[in-house]
Amino acid sequence: MKVLVINCGSSSLKYDLFDTVTEQSQAKGLCERVGIDGGTEALIEHEVAGKDAFEKPACMPDHTVAIKYALEALTDTDHGVIDSLDEIAAVGHRVVHGGEAFAESVVIDDEVEQAVEDFCELAPLHNPPNLLGIRACRKALPGVPQVAVFDTAFHQTMPPQAYIYALPYELYEEHRVRRYGFHGTSHRYVSLRAGEYLQEQGIAVEDHKVVTCHLGNGGSMAAVLAGKSIDTTMGMTPLEGLVMGTRCGDLDPALPLYLMDLLGQDAKQIDALMNKQSGLLGVSGVSSDMRDNQNASVEGDERAQLAVDLFCYRVRKYLGAYAASLGGLNCIVFTAGIGENDPPLRAQVVEGLQFMGVKIDESLNDTLQLHDGVARISADDSPVHVLVVKTDEELMIARDTVELLTGS
Ligand code: ADP
Repeated sequence: MKVLVINCGSSSLKYDLFDTVTEQSQAKGLCERVGIDGGTEALIEHEVAGKDAFEKPACMPDHTVAIKYALEALTDTDHGVIDSLDEIAAVGHRVVHGGEAFAESVVIDDEVEQAVEDFCELAPLHNPPNLLGIRACRKALPGVPQVAVFDTAFHQTMPPQAYIYALPYELYEEHRVRRYGFHGTSHRYVSLRAGEYLQEQGIAVEDHKVVTCHLGNGGSMAAVLAGKSIDTTMGMTPLEGLVMGTRCGDLDPALPLYLMDLLGQDAKQIDALMNKQSGLLGVSGVSSDMRDNQNASVEGDERAQLAVDLFCYRVRKYLGAYAASLGGLNCIVFTAGIGENDPPLRAQVVEGLQFMGVKIDESLNDTLQLHDGVARISADDSPVHVLVVKTDEELMIARDTVELLTGS
């Protein structure tokens, strides 16, 4: 069975065609600059597994045209991997916000499409392009089942004490103001892989106490008890929690108001300051990219070093907090761009956590040996297992899609 996975951003469309028997991607691509300048500057990059990628300019005024280009690339006589669109059995869509309505993935019908639209208010940057992708695919592939996989769904198992803000309760009841959490598909995938690993170590599922650290350009952590999320660092929006590339994460909640007065700026400007000019970029003044900050700090840039220290300290602090939430800890998982690729940062995060039973093997950490996307980096005698797991949100979306359509 072939499943097409779609991830739509405001000016981009990512696609990935999976063979769900082998769970291998057959071809994937990215349509960029969709709708910018009327789509005249757009570009499609297409890559067939095991072959060189190609890119070509295209005119993509909207996502409906972008999906047309993607489908053409997939069926192209030279670069295609399928003979006809009939081979696409289903489409799985990444949808950022599912509110409280969706604790699991769901087959899309008009009602679900309407719900995704309703949640645009909660995720104004993300749900509108996700919705465009859904509409474009329903139009281009009529009759082909479409599935929505929500970033928020995995965290719907959080108990109220973890998701209610200590604000007037009516704000929750009347306006849906609560913590939702994001990156759920990634946290779910890596915690599943960690669960398999822990079972191999003879630890029963009900005893799995795992903290997953998704450290990419955006970052979040989740406390996962027996496979279920019981807390996560992002909140009503993706701004809460960790220090990120350009986001500040946790703050004194009085600060935005103070800054509005101090700087004479309005809410939109302060929102941009916290989301786009803060985090690694704001502290270091160097870059939002972790590699640039690591390189600058090696060369003696003190603010870049401070940015990296802040980043690591925040992760370490949450590790302690989540060990308390979980009533213990037997596994830490690092994933995403930084988590998978930055050994010194992983070592810095867990430094001083020996008292909690966390002991890293430096050589395993430095010379990461992934086996089927998973590597242990903790020492043999470390009571807490520390893993690096390559995340695969697209595969998770493809799996959910198959499961919903075939029941297996
Ligand atoms: P996104 O949230 O955009 O999907 P990614 O998961 O791709 O982000 O992560 C991007 C981050 O990963 C950047 O900060 C980048 O510097 C970092 N990164 C990627 N490779 C390395 C590396 N080898 N060393 C340190 N950081 C890395």
